[in-house]
Formats: sequence, structure tokens, C-alpha cells
Amino acid sequence: MTVLRIAVVYPDLLGTYGDGGNGLVLFRRAERRGIAVELIQATSDAALPAVDLYTLGGGEDGPQVLATERLGEAGTLAEAVANGAVVLAVCAGYQIVGARFPAADGAPVDGLGLLDAITEKSQGRRPVGEIVVESELEGVGMLTGFENHGGLTTLGPSASPLGRVCIGIGNGDGTDGACSGRVVGTYLHGPVLARNPALADLLLSWATGRALAPLDDHRELDLHRERLEASLGRRGRRRG
Ligand code: GLN
Repeated sequence: MTVLRIAVVYPDLLGTYGDGGNGLVLFRRAERRGIAVELIQATSDAALPAVDLYTLGGGEDGPQVLATERLGEAGTLAEAVANGAVVLAVCAGYQIVGARFPAADGAPVDGLGLLDAITEKSQGRRPVGEIVVESELEGVGMLTGFENHGGLTTLGPSASPLGRVCIGIGNGDGTDGACSGRVVGTYLHGPVLARNPALADLLLSWATGRALAPLDDHRELDLHRERLEASLGRRGRRRG
């Protein structure tokens, strides 16, 4: 690969929760290491480009259905994944790359089927708040984020959870997210990669196919620690 290409998918439809920041974090962490990198804001009015790494963000129920239709028609994302592209999909994006999710009226909508995951409307209160997940991915450790979703997700046998929920709701069964090959879905906003640099670097290493040079990211790590402590400290106080 001469230039690492990263696309933020449909920021005009899936930009409600600031998850476009994930693309920016990936771009800057590559650029600061001297990796030739391009960041594309792939809006829904143009053909989705074939790139090495895609990010999809959260959105409202209506635009989520529209984004799914366009991505399904174009076929580019599924083809790129079959060719080894990396995907980080957050919340609405996570539900879109799964097998099925509910529209605003509850009617089931077929997702892209890149993750073996089915989302249904939560019967309880909408999960909104800080979430902490202990990741199953190598070297990633604890993840901090913010969740805000009406759907809960059940994984099928060919997906594994991103991790175990320590605080919050996530998928609704004690786990959050799903991983299959190089496709990662999660309910964590934040943006998740701004709060969790280790996850950003794992995705970059998958996309570049090489180990990454170290980076002075003490400020990013300070934020990671501060957010974890804020959540875990709060739990401690509630218990006490
Ligand atoms: N519409 C989806 C839900 O409520 C996704 C929400 C989001 O992206 N934050 O479950």
C-alpha cells in the first residue's frame, strides 16, 4: 500500500454523535508516524470509495435506514471487507453492519450482514451514559465510552463480543460490540478512538499490515485514564 486510505462513511447521515472524530484520530496517529495517509469524508451523494479502513458512526433511526439502503445498493463496503478492509462501526453503524435492526416504527430492516448480530428494540429504559468495557482484543485492555441507543444486540456464533461490560449496558447481555475478522462493532461513542488510543492503533496495524512506531501520546492516555477513573470511581461511590 503506498497511501493508507481511510473513509468516514456517510457523515451527512451518520454524523449525529461526533463519531467522525474516529477517522480524524486514525488519520492523525498515522500521519504523526510518517505514514502516507488520506482521510476521505465519503458523503452519501457520491459513490463510496474503495479504501483500506472505514469508520461508520451513530445516527437517528431514519438516516440509519437510508444509509443501509445506499450501502447495500452500492455493495462497495461488503466487497472491500471481502478484500481485507478494516471497519470500525459505532452504534447505528454497528447495527447497520449487523444482520438486522429495527426501524423507527420497530419494523425489521436487513443490515449488511458483515457481523453476525441482530438488534432488537430494548423493552427497558434507553441505555444512556458512560460505559466501560474490558476488551477481548489483544493489547487493547479497558475501553471507555458513552452509549446512547434504543436497540440491544444479540450475537450469532460467527461473531465474538468486543468485550465484557463493566459499567453500562452495551449489547444488553453483559457484553458490548462484536468482532468478526477485521470488522469491529461497538456501542461506544466518545469518539471511542479519541478515548482509547490502543484500539485506534490496533485498527491501524491491521490496515497497514505492520507494527506501528511508538508515539508520544501521554495526553491521550491521560484522557483515557481520567474517563475510566471517572466511571469506576462513580461506581465505587455508589456502592459505598
Ligand atoms: N438508532 C439506533 C438506536 O437507537 C442507533 C442510535 C445511535 O447511533 N446512537 O439503537
